[in-house]
Amino acid sequence: MDQVDSIVVGAGAVGLAVARGLAQAGLETIVAEAQTAIGQGVSSRNSEVIHAGLYYPTGSLKARLCVRGKELLYELCASHGVSHRNCGKLVVANSEAEASALKGLRDRAIANGVPVDWLDAPQARALEPALQCVAALSSPTTGIVDSHGFMLALQGDLESAGGAVALGSAVDSAVLGKGGGPHVVRMADGSEIAARVLVNSASLHACALARRFDGLDERWVPREYFAKGSYYALAGKAPFTRLIYPAPADAWLGVHLTLDLGGQAKFGPDLEWLDVARPEDIDYTVDPRRAEGFYAEVRRYWPALPDGALQPSYSGVRPKIYGPGEAAPDFRIDGPAVHGIAGLVNLFGIESPGLTSALAIAEHVVALVEETRA
Ligand SMILES: Cc1cc2nc3c(=O)[nH]c(=O)nc-3n(C[C@H](O)[C@H](O)[C@H](O)COP(=O)(O)OP(=O)(O)OC[C@H]3O[C@@H](n4cnc5c(N)ncnc54)[C@H](O)[C@@H]3O)c2cc1C
Repeated sequence: MDQVDSIVVGAGAVGLAVARGLAQAGLETIVAEAQTAIGQGVSSRNSEVIHAGLYYPTGSLKARLCVRGKELLYELCASHGVSHRNCGKLVVANSEAEASALKGLRDRAIANGVPVDWLDAPQARALEPALQCVAALSSPTTGIVDSHGFMLALQGDLESAGGAVALGSAVDSAVLGKGGGPHVVRMADGSEIAARVLVNSASLHACALARRFDGLDERWVPREYFAKGSYYALAGKAPFTRLIYPAPADAWLGVHLTLDLGGQAKFGPDLEWLDVARPEDIDYTVDPRRAEGFYAEVRRYWPALPDGALQPSYSGVRPKIYGPGEAAPDFRIDGPAVHGIAGLVNLFGIESPGLTSALAIAEHVVALVEETRA
């Protein structure tokens, strides 16, 4: 049986970043990817926003890894020529109640070490003349990135460090090693490969895959949920140069406007809990009728939105580990200290800001793996 130092399951942004980190730490690393190309999962169906780290509870992995990941991502974009734009974002309030929620967000951002500026309505309109608001919070470190360019850069670094991506290589299951012995990973074609380090970065499939790890107690595998987000593109020219988000009302960020690197504006993603048990059963079709609810929301901050301007675009699905009405948990990055199995790291619930955080998640996983090896 072939043996390598580490196997990472999943060639999305997070899996590739983790594999790059392991390879750069000197481990012979292979990424096993079920699809025939990298980045065909959640990493190609998202907003491509470099999040600043405003929203997440202070001290949480989401807060820390987003802030650190953002710094590393901007550095990597600059050093590797990955297309990106540090366009900034405005979070807008349209009532006194929303302004008070926005003050809470400002305080949290400051506690998270994220720079923000409070703007009154004339100051906000001086930046974005089409905007209607009573106040806004400006986040100058928010940006947008070409997620595929980012993943290609990660793959390039992985390969330069001696690692490889094995495409069309679905992992079926694994028998976990006992007492620090190697894990035996079984591929869908029946072949096997041994590795002391096994990182499950299979995103929408991560919980199901972890249940097929012989030797991992099922109490260490959360239940998965899937929540779809649909996007609607704006026909015509973008009215703003920054991303525009409404003040957060609940766990969802509201109908916000993001821009792509070509300057096209899109609204979304919305939030639709799916009643499917497996990612294979997800229907990614965007329902044009869901746009109807967007108009009133968007016109609160952009009254000039023309009728019929929203066109169905694409959708993505969040790999959630909590259900409707439950509080959003932190990223779950379960290393040996959690489940007691040397060399195994399971990544669960890596939804937004997972793209932004990818390089910091990688640092975190490499540290967990090195603790095991020490
Ligand atoms: C609608 C939406 C909007 C988002 N917007 C943002 C944003 O603006 N900014 C941000 O920072 N984050 C955002 N996110 C979150 C971000 O996209 C994800 O956190 C990130 O892309 C997850 O990357 P990943 O590598 O974990 O998953 P994926 O990209 O899904 O990669 C997992 C890979 O594992 C492979 N795989 C699965 N099972 C197996 C198996 N058994 N064997 C081999 N391979 C397997 C899959 O084929 C896939 O390629 C958004 C997410 C969604 C859904």
